[in-house]
Amino acid sequence: MPELPEVESLRRGLVPCLKGNKIVSVQVLRAKLVSGKGTVRESLDFKRAEFEAVFLGDEVLNIERRAKNLIFEFKSGKVLLVHLKMTGQLVYKSKENIIVKGGHPIQDSNSKLPNKHTYIIFELKNGFLYYNDVRMFGYLLYYPDKLALDLEGHFSELGLEPDSVAFTEQFFICAMQKKSGKLKSVFLNQEIVVGLGNIYCDEVCFEAGVRPDRVVKTLGILKLKKLYSAILKIIPMAIDMGGSSVANYLLVDGSKGNYAHYHKVYLKGGKPCYICGRELTKIKLNSRTTVYCENCQK
Ligand SMILES: [Zn+2]
Repeated sequence: MPELPEVESLRRGLVPCLKGNKIVSVQVLRAKLVSGKGTVRESLDFKRAEFEAVFLGDEVLNIERRAKNLIFEFKSGKVLLVHLKMTGQLVYKSKENIIVKGGHPIQDSNSKLPNKHTYIIFELKNGFLYYNDVRMFGYLLYYPDKLALDLEGHFSELGLEPDSVAFTEQFFICAMQKKSGKLKSVFLNQEIVVGLGNIYCDEVCFEAGVRPDRVVKTLGILKLKKLYSAILKIIPMAIDMGGSSVANYLLVDGSKGNYAHYHKVYLKGGKPCYICGRELTKIKLNSRTTVYCENCQK
């Protein structure tokens, strides 16, 4: 599942390719993906027809990101919201064969485009943008303008971006002190700060020396300060390295996202701790595999 750093890396890769690029045609092969969000969705043919017609001739002005949502802004003011969910992927292939790919790694899509997982094809003046999705939980939604997107309250339950001015140490400590439950659960629900999915949650807790199964109410100021610093260190570093996808993930310059090589605990249960060498502990927390060091994290 792509996490925030992977989505941000994808955004950074796509912006130079798509900015100023005009939509020539749009083909929706599965109407469900443009008909709404959630796991139970009907394929609505009028949504397909609307989606295929509405962006024609329009020019991409910019791509923004909120949590794991990509927000494509068009010259006309129209907006396209893209969420890759668990298994979605965006691939841009220019006429000069420059490929920018991000999201869930899909084996089949290595060379063949479109492929059996391709459900939406945007033809642009200078290339093609493919939306591929193995399990089709993702969605691409059209809004007449940004206000319409805001009014829907799509982002109302999301916490702050780690790099936003409002995400101060004081804000973080106050917000955490109001929470009950275990640390990892609080992080995973994204209400205070976004970007801490399964990978980065474990990495941040390790960096801060705090066990992910600690009850938040029992954490002192010092631990909370360490967690705050760890978030500000780990998330930007992961973004700069292009995220954590190991396979088939190419940045705009053809290099691979390589933060995965710097993971210290994620998927390393049973392996020796990076700091003390003791065996890392693997538990289930919120039915998510969680790894930490009993010696270094308290
Ligand atoms: Zn250790």
